[in-house]
Formats: sequence, structure tokens, C-alpha cells
Amino acid sequence: MSFVKGLKCRECGRLFPKEPLYVCEYCFGPLELDYDYPLIKKKLNKEVIESRAKNLWRYKELLPVDGNPIVGLDSGFTPLVKAHNLAKRLGVKELYIKDDSVCHPTLSFKDRVVSVAITKAKEFGFDTVACASTGNLANSVSAQAAKAGMKCFVFIPSDLEAGKVIASLIYAPKVISVEGNYDEVNRLCTEIAAKYKWAFVNINIRPYYAEGSKTFAYEIAEQLGWKAPKHIISPAAGGSLITKIYKGLHELKKLDLINDVPTKIYAAQAKGCAPIVNAIKEGSEIIKPVKPDTIAKSLAIGNPADGYYAYKTVIESGGFADDATDEEIVEGIKLLASTEGIFTETAGGVTVAVTKKLIESGRIPKDESIVISITGNGLKTQEAVLGKAGNVFRIKPDIDSFEKTLY
Ligand SMILES: *Cc1c(COP(=O)(O)O)cnc(C)c1O
Ligand SMILES: [Zn+2]
Repeated sequence: MSFVKGLKCRECGRLFPKEPLYVCEYCFGPLELDYDYPLIKKKLNKEVIESRAKNLWRYKELLPVDGNPIVGLDSGFTPLVKAHNLAKRLGVKELYIKDDSVCHPTLSFKDRVVSVAITKAKEFGFDTVACASTGNLANSVSAQAAKAGMKCFVFIPSDLEAGKVIASLIYAPKVISVEGNYDEVNRLCTEIAAKYKWAFVNINIRPYYAEGSKTFAYEIAEQLGWKAPKHIISPAAGGSLITKIYKGLHELKKLDLINDVPTKIYAAQAKGCAPIVNAIKEGSEIIKPVKPDTIAKSLAIGNPADGYYAYKTVIESGGFADDATDEEIVEGIKLLASTEGIFTETAGGVTVAVTKKLIESGRIPKDESIVISITGNGLKTQEAVLGKAGNVFRIKPDIDSFEKTLY
């Protein structure tokens, strides 16, 4: 059973059937899922959700699939870590880390969107899945296509970290390394998607894919005891996750699962690729594309597909935005690791660094609940901290050598 009525244009509101469509043929606005919320409300309450398995499908009425999920049965429901040590360091009272660096199976939040996208692609009858990726998406599409028994093509920029490349190759998809940046990869894939009958998870089935991100917000609220936090800081690449966090919280309110949404949303980007942050700081809704130059490769999208909506989300929520230099990103990674024992990738370094700045500048008050979105795992971006994480002590295998070296 499905609670999806169809697709709806975000701009002109025209309705479309549940098909692999993503853009309005009248105004070129993006299409979004249209749910029957009154019907969902009859079916879904806290008790029902809490009685289900701890994975992202516990909210399945709010996800756009008709039948039973075929992948992602162990994805999502990642820890919401109470971050006492980091809170103390930043001088704030109530701080949490939503830790998708340990999301099953490929250690990033992309396992959420891909679980939904691949289940939907199979429902649509596709036998091949594909994506344009900055790294983590390729990892997740590769792994979950293997699990679903589908053919798979992933397209990545040719300058990706070794860990991200291996973590796709190992699942035996066709990995296409494109000599260009993500925006060029995406342009090529849009052309390929128009010609081949493949499910490009973040192109022709993007509306379905993007819905998976809402589960990140559902879980935060559930894990806080059915309550939305006052502040959420989220990294932004294409700008989808950040808009879906806000949408997810408002859906919970609509269903009376939480009382209100006092949440301000903050966007974090790298200084070397900050088109969304720039727009927010300038107070201009025009997203000016940039040429990315940053170690945060997972966020290196110069022309973000949902940039305008990410901007609108931040402004509407009353939040703000900031960016982090490469040095600050490394410091952010080290700060999270040394205080909370969590090793995040460069995107997480961006988010921690930006959170620190927003607290120091007084944008985020020190006495309200704050959630930092950690979206990826540090073992995949080791290049970023190589030689910057301290030294090992090399000794001879005897106690003399040990004591001479350390004491
Ligand atoms: C893809 C990605 C993001 C951002 O996602 P968007 O929805 O494109 O903004 C954030 N963090 C990591 C680690 C990612 O891989
Ligand atoms: Zn339209």
C-alpha cells in the first residue's frame, strides 16, 4: 500500500503521475512527492513506529515506495550521541552528534537515499541503476545494486580520494572516472540519462531518492523523545539533505508526532565551494555557481541542484550559514575525534568547524539544544589528515627502547 498521491511541481503545483519524472514540463520546476497526510495520520503513531525494526523503513508510510523494501533493511537508525566533551569544549549546554558515519552498509547518509531510490527503481522495472557522485553516493549505489542484483554504473570526478574509489570498485559496478569536476560529471550523466533507460538515482528518480534524507530528521526527533531540537547544522553539497531535514520535521508536526518545530537550520560548506553559504550571507536568493577548490570533495558541487531551496529553508527557519577553510576542516575532524571518539570525513570536518564558528559568533546560543549532522566516515578521506594527525613512536621490541622513547 502506498500513501503517495503522485508528483507535484514545487513551483506551479501541477500534478504528475508516479513515474520516473523529475522536472515539470510546463515551468521546469523540480517535482516532489505528494502524500496523503490525513490517511498517513490514521495509520501512523508513535507506538506503531517504535514497535518496528530499527532501520529507516520504520517510517515507510512517509517514503515513496509501494511494495516491500528490497534494500536498506539494516540502514539508518544511527546513533544520536550526547556529546558531553565537545559541548564542554564549545561552551554549550546540550549538544548531540547524529552519527551517519556508521550508517549501514557504506558508512554515509547516502545509504538512506539509495535504499529508497533502488527499491523504487526496481518497482519501476529498471534493471540498471546509475549515479553522478562526489564519492559516497557511488559507494552506496554500488553496494546496494549488488545486494539488489541490478546492473550498476557510477560516474565520479577523476580526482577522488582512493578510499572512495576502492569503496565503489569492490562491489564490481562499472566505475567511470570522468576528467572533470562534479558539475561536469552531472552534466554528462543528464545527457546519458536522456538516452539510456537507466535509473539515475539522483537525476531521473531524484524526487524519490531525495525523500530518503527525511529519515535523518525523523530519527533525530524520535531519539530526542519525539521532540525537535532548537538548532541543526547540516553540510550542503547539492542542497537536498538540508531541505529534507526541515521538511521531515514539519511532516512529524503535521502528523502530531511532535508538538512544534522550533528548529533553526544552518548550512555548512567549504570555503572553496560555498555557493549556498555565499547566497545566505549575501541575503540573495540567486545561487552563483562556483568552481570548487577544497579538500571536502564530497561537498564539491559548484552548481547545486537544490541550492535555491536550501537557501529558502535556512532563511525560513531563521538559521544561518558559514564556511570552513581547508585548515579549519582538518581541525574540525581532529576536534570531533579527540573529544567524542568519532572519526568523520572532510564533510564532517566542515560541519564541526562551522558549528564552532556559529557558536563563537553568537549566532547559535549556548543554552539551547544543538544537533550536528555527521554524514560520512573518516576512513574514506585519509588523504585529508595524512601527516596531520600526530606521529607514531617507533621502537625496538624491548622494554628499554620503550622507556627511552616515552619517558
Ligand atoms: C552527499 C553528501 C552530503 C550532502 O548532500 P546534499 O543532499 O547533496 O546536500 C553531505 N555529506 C556527505 C558526506 C555527503 O556524501
Ligand atoms: Zn511547474
